[in-house]
Amino acid sequence: MKNHLWNNKPYHSLDYHLQEKFGEKIYKISLNARMTCPNRDHSIGSRGCIFCSQGGSGDFAGSPSFSIYQQIEEGKKYFLDSPKNTGKKFIAYFQAFTNTYAPVSYLREVYMEALSHPDIVALSIATRPDCLEKEKLDLLEEIQSKKPVFIELGLQTIHEETACFIRRGYSLPCFEETLRACRSRKIPIVVHTIFGLPFETEKMMMETISYLAQKDIQGIKLQLLQVLKTTDLALIYKEKPFKTLTLEEYVDYVVRAIEILPETVVIHRLTGDPPKDLLIAPLWCLKKRVVLNTIHKEFQRRNTWQGKKYKRLTS
Ligand code: SF4
Repeated sequence: MKNHLWNNKPYHSLDYHLQEKFGEKIYKISLNARMTCPNRDHSIGSRGCIFCSQGGSGDFAGSPSFSIYQQIEEGKKYFLDSPKNTGKKFIAYFQAFTNTYAPVSYLREVYMEALSHPDIVALSIATRPDCLEKEKLDLLEEIQSKKPVFIELGLQTIHEETACFIRRGYSLPCFEETLRACRSRKIPIVVHTIFGLPFETEKMMMETISYLAQKDIQGIKLQLLQVLKTTDLALIYKEKPFKTLTLEEYVDYVVRAIEILPETVVIHRLTGDPPKDLLIAPLWCLKKRVVLNTIHKEFQRRNTWQGKKYKRLTS
């Protein structure tokens, strides 16, 4: 076993990355900046991606009735009240809906409000590649000269037929163009992927990861498809229940995915944290500790680690 570079973990974890970058433990506070999404306001569609909850995939974000500063204060309480009481610095995570889908003046206001909080060391902004026009990139570049900014893009899959089925609403070339534009400004990119999307085979899922392994991305969030109440996926599931991933399948895909990613890509997430009251299937993912332990054990059992099977392909 390569006993590693990443505090004895077989992968380059976000925790490790933040400790290295900031010299201390850093937590993320999820925020709701009262934006919407072109997939919900009728610009592209009105019902959102088929798996997206009413909370815009930000069910743990702060209350939109609070200001950004107040949401940070509320989020801090949660961490400071925890028995571990570790971490005094935080990342402001703009999570709910599409967090660059507003006029630049509004974006400047909410990002600056977060940065005005003395305990915020960086911004993480979840968005879509079709919502990052030049003026918004200019703003992010400007902010980045003051504090680190991470842009999180919900790609989920590289396969157009799946993207169409889940109603993602933008194409792979759109993702590639935005990735290039962000990287030309040195803005770090974190890509979200989902394993177990309807009709995706194991080969298709690994093709998405192999594709990303060759791209200039700085982080990845791995996730499994979860069927949540109030989504169109739940309606499809109710009408014709389809197979969701088992724990064993998911663990297998995660380990194989990490093996083919380069060591430089930070693993921001290994599994999702579904809202308990909304989850329909698969129920095993509620036991996050068990999922993480099973993944760690599987790395050991296979005597493998991040990048073990990574191959740089020349284009
Ligand atoms: S792009 Fe994001 S916020 Fe918009 S519908 Fe899809 S998952 Fe939800």
